Amino acid sequence: MGIFDILFSKTYSAVLHISSANGFHLRPAARFVAKAKKFQAEMEAENRGKSVNAKQLNALLSLNLEPGDHFELTCRGKDAQEACDTLTEYFTSLMQDDREIELLSKTEEEYEAPAISGEIIAGGIAMAPVWQYRETETEVEAKVSFEEAVSESMKALEILHETHRFQQQGEVYLAQKELLDSLQAEATSLEGLEEAVLRAEKALSGGKLEAKVDDYYDILHRVKSYLGYQTTVAYPKEPFILIADELRPSQIETLRQYPVAGVILRHTTLASHAAILLRAASIPSLIIENDSLPESNEALLDAGSGLFIPTPTTQDRAKAEHKQTRHILAKQDAFEKRFEPARTKDNKPIQVFANVTDTLSAKQAKEEGAEGIGLLRTEFLFKKERPSFKSQVETYTQIFTLFDEITVRTLDVGGDKALPYVQFPHETNPFLGIRGIRLLQTHPDMIEEQIHAIFKAANGKAIKLMFPMISSVEEFNHAKAFSKEVARKFQCDIDNISFGIMVEVPSVLFAMEAFNTVVDFYSIGSNDLNQYLFAIERTHPSLSLPSRSKVLFDAIETIVTKADKPVSICGELAGDPEAIPILIEMGIETLSVSPSAIAQTKERIRNV
Ligand code: PEP
Ligand code: MG
Repeated sequence: MGIFDILFSKTYSAVLHISSANGFHLRPAARFVAKAKKFQAEMEAENRGKSVNAKQLNALLSLNLEPGDHFELTCRGKDAQEACDTLTEYFTSLMQDDREIELLSKTEEEYEAPAISGEIIAGGIAMAPVWQYRETETEVEAKVSFEEAVSESMKALEILHETHRFQQQGEVYLAQKELLDSLQAEATSLEGLEEAVLRAEKALSGGKLEAKVDDYYDILHRVKSYLGYQTTVAYPKEPFILIADELRPSQIETLRQYPVAGVILRHTTLASHAAILLRAASIPSLIIENDSLPESNEALLDAGSGLFIPTPTTQDRAKAEHKQTRHILAKQDAFEKRFEPARTKDNKPIQVFANVTDTLSAKQAKEEGAEGIGLLRTEFLFKKERPSFKSQVETYTQIFTLFDEITVRTLDVGGDKALPYVQFPHETNPFLGIRGIRLLQTHPDMIEEQIHAIFKAANGKAIKLMFPMISSVEEFNHAKAFSKEVARKFQCDIDNISFGIMVEVPSVLFAMEAFNTVVDFYSIGSNDLNQYLFAIERTHPSLSLPSRSKVLFDAIETIVTKADKPVSICGELAGDPEAIPILIEMGIETLSVSPSAIAQTKERIRNV
């Protein structure tokens, strides 16, 4: 971008509010910066009189933006206006997507021996000797220059990001790549990089992002490894409980190759990337802020109860073993029976379907024992860019061939689900605006192309087409007529297509008689239904939406009682072990849950 572009271009600015309870932390900030770099505009972020380059992750993080803070984004240059609008919208979606770290509640357990209590990262039981973390650093002659070491590290992080793009690790590596990119602007030598890391550590110290310092050290460590500095950690060959001050995120990957039974970290937080990755790897782990945890050759870690017992009695060990065996057997048993149908104790069959987003998750659902797809959330295929007609047909075809029973939902965006490349009209209250099927009013071409692709992929197969956010019979009739017109225009055979709705807007409950005359099926979207019943955003950072209220169950019962067409449920409630017996009692016969919850949902049904 030339100097004239900057000097003579208009300035656009917007105030962005940090609504996530986690603050504007590393992962969303990295995604923001990656997006910002795509624009030819100079950008600044300003908070409390401090102004930094908004395209530099390190600089952006130094603003230490906490929940409730805001910053002013100013864009200047060629595509300043587009940059400002797009980034404002993108920022809102980043805040909404950023889930609060779930606090796991402790199960009560009493042990005879003294126990030290901690915060749960991930539950489970470990019994093994304690091993205190220690590493040794050796230096061999460097074969590459500092610049080459940085460039190799960038490449390695890019590959790691790509390899893990559908998992949480993927975001961690993207964040580290962006961090390194911004650090290399500050440092031209290893010493310079070390100083930059120290400066970052100082800037983050005491703030909500303090634990992200580990990521800086992880990067430093990676660059140093290319420069000949090798760190060796001699992990034991037998099962062990690791005690460390903190771990660098990349060390968790390495750790999984060793027989680690449990982990205790002393100086980290639940929001650190190490904690997130330990939870993703299901390694029993706790945070215990105690610098003098005793050594032990036979310690007990009951992470689910938040307890570390350095010298358990024989009774304690027997109790923990029993608990562990019960847990493992129950999980194994459920997993082994995952392909068997689920019947309640009085022999009532309940179908367990999966909620999927793409071919990968549909295949996973098949392996996990799903009997069909109860909800194909097609918006995930549209998340990054608008998919072509051809690629949509390919994806739908791949998914449709996996199961006999498929329910595919038309694009459900708007409100909390933004599409980066679609400009929605400004709305004061997007949750009550152009969402779901209402997109037909603003972007009919996109829906037409999608429905055409679905019909083409169905190719005569029986597929259920479901419309999201339907609030009136007229809306459904219009969507169905629109679909029929698509079929006529492109000469698609739709004899086996049935048409139904998500029940997630409360008005539907009061029009069930009329709906019964037009729809072929209903699927209850308990997530949105709940938020609209209580008028509380489902992702609201501070207001808490009750998840199992009598109001929600009464609403579901009303739907089941009034419906004379098949009703399934595909919101989160369908996989909730406490809700399952109530839903079955009400007459629900199909539950659609996430692929990883299929086996346990079937097992829960068998105990109803
Ligand atoms: C729901 O609202 O319950 C639902 C299943 O849809 P989504 O979560 O995709 O909005
Ligand atoms: Mg919904």
